Amino acid sequence: MSRAFVVAGAVVLALLPGSGVGTAGQPCPTVSRVARSVSPGELVLLTVACTTPLQKIEVTAFGRSIPFYEAETPRAWQGLVGIDLNTKPGKHEVAIVGRAGSSTFTRTYTLAVAPKRFRTRQLTVPQQFVTPPESERARIEQEAKRVGAIIATITPVRLWEGPFVPPVPGPMISPFGTLSVLNGTPGSRHGGADFQAAEGTPIQAPAAGRVVLAADLYFSGRTVIIDHGLGLISLLAHLSEIRAREGAHVARGDEVGTVGSTGRVTGPHLHWTVRVVGARVDPLSLLAVLGPKGGRLPGAVACR
Ligand SMILES: [Zn+2]
Repeated sequence: MSRAFVVAGAVVLALLPGSGVGTAGQPCPTVSRVARSVSPGELVLLTVACTTPLQKIEVTAFGRSIPFYEAETPRAWQGLVGIDLNTKPGKHEVAIVGRAGSSTFTRTYTLAVAPKRFRTRQLTVPQQFVTPPESERARIEQEAKRVGAIIATITPVRLWEGPFVPPVPGPMISPFGTLSVLNGTPGSRHGGADFQAAEGTPIQAPAAGRVVLAADLYFSGRTVIIDHGLGLISLLAHLSEIRAREGAHVARGDEVGTVGSTGRVTGPHLHWTVRVVGARVDPLSLLAVLGPKGGRLPGAVACR
């Protein structure tokens, strides 16, 4: 039997003994999740808990190895599974292999990904951002390679601690996943969320991490990328000014730049992209799961 708990808007489904994952009297593990929903573009926080400390855990989901970390106790480990924007709806298996005490275990946890419809938006932007001039092609390719390499790098330690916060106080004005039609030509899906903010508004680091890029890029303008560790990355785009240095560590709330309208934009706003082990997820799902009101281990998840 599954029991559902509601934690700050996110539903927690705990698989308890008797549910097919462990039975009464067996020590472990239990597997549970916190997520706003299980659909493309959503972040899922998985917890694997045991009665005895876990020594090792290896998790694979959507063909990717998911780094797990010790949560609040060595008996409960957590990992972030990103359901990429392009994931096909249906059942997807998460393979879990671990060791607790002298015993090893293997479990399969199923994520039933529900379909999700994203919107379409019409945008009018300077034509050079729809069909970039030939002279910019090498630059665009080089920048795509550089950002791609950053996203593919999984820093093996967790650099963030505590909740994630929105980088600017304004509301979200353009959602994640929307298909942009640029000057009448269908472009790509919106890989982040846009937040309303006036030119010059300070942008804060949503959580601690290391600044791995602080540069002016063709499409995203002045851009700061923060590596939060364990494959979790924030990209903040279209800044008027960058106030962070590549290689520097930042704490949650540190100012990394100011809002602007550089790159491919229609006006000043903050664009925030979140990647989790390569998967594109909605920053709002990150805030729902790891924000100030979400994310902590519900007591009911602990093994018995
Ligand atoms: Zn955007």
